[in-house]
Amino acid sequence: MEAPQLSFEFFPPRDDVQTARFRTARDRLLALHPDYVSVTFGAGGSTRSRTVDTVREIAEASGIPVAPHISCMSEDLDSLRQLLESYDRFGVKRLVVLRGDRPSGRYAGVFEHAADLVADIRQRWGSRFHLEVACYPEHHPESPSPAADLRHFRDKVAAGADGAITQYFFNAECYFRFVDDARALGVDVPIVPGVMPITNYQGLARFSRTCGAEIPQWIDKRLQAWDAEGDRESLIEFGHEVVCNLCRRLLDGGAPGLHFYTLNRAGPSLRLCSDLGLGNR
Ligand code: FAD
Repeated sequence: MEAPQLSFEFFPPRDDVQTARFRTARDRLLALHPDYVSVTFGAGGSTRSRTVDTVREIAEASGIPVAPHISCMSEDLDSLRQLLESYDRFGVKRLVVLRGDRPSGRYAGVFEHAADLVADIRQRWGSRFHLEVACYPEHHPESPSPAADLRHFRDKVAAGADGAITQYFFNAECYFRFVDDARALGVDVPIVPGVMPITNYQGLARFSRTCGAEIPQWIDKRLQAWDAEGDRESLIEFGHEVVCNLCRRLLDGGAPGLHFYTLNRAGPSLRLCSDLGLGNR
């Protein structure tokens, strides 16, 4: 059986302390020889140069492929195209193509939907880049219905995406159902689950509310109680067990790989990979 695809997502560090932490995490995670790592792109172009610097630094420090995230929230089409030219110059072969989070809710972006950016890249660059897109097993929060969101995902793949990474979720059934529904609509690209290690309650709860990921009540109540009691050890142990069991179910059920949202911390993803037997590649 083919080894599952393994990838790690980083965000561009903002200051010296974050840079030191990022480099430590990067080196520890690259030692697992992931298939690629990706680097997020902040809304409104605010971290554009930091994304570029981080991508370049990883590319120079290792032979591991780096996939920058690019989003429609660039200043204009010209700067977006220049960005792609720079990435091409330093050997980038894979991109994660997104609409991006809308900073003010007003600026619609260079394109309104990620599918338009996928189509533009395909038109100008042919098959030069492998394109990943985002998808949402629990459906995107702005979408009027799961069916509409699924159709838009299908359109994004039809525009030229080679693969998809999901928003994180804690319910394996919703992933399998989503994959079945996507296949029924003719989507045939790999759909890799995005995995969020659980290490903290407040941040996870806040982010889950905005991105529309559900924390099932039996998990939420326990995390909330340990957070209120200041019992970090129980929270982390339980969080690890929950996410590890989820990953096992996903891989056993045929998921083609795992994409870890590392938040620039190596420990939680390393422990999961080790327990899942993904540590010796
Ligand atoms: P789209 O595919 O454009 O979809 C956005 C919404 O529009 C959905 O509700 C969809 O159903 C709807 N839609 C799509 N097409 C149409 C249409 N033709 N007509 C009507 N409605 C339509 N954000 C960042 O800012 N930077 C990052 O680096 C980043 N990385 C991410 C990585 C992953 C793996 C994931 C899952 C998300 C990431 N995000 C990032 C968040 C992402 O930008 C947001 O979720 C954003 O709100 C939607 O992006 P999208 O690419 O899925 O958009």
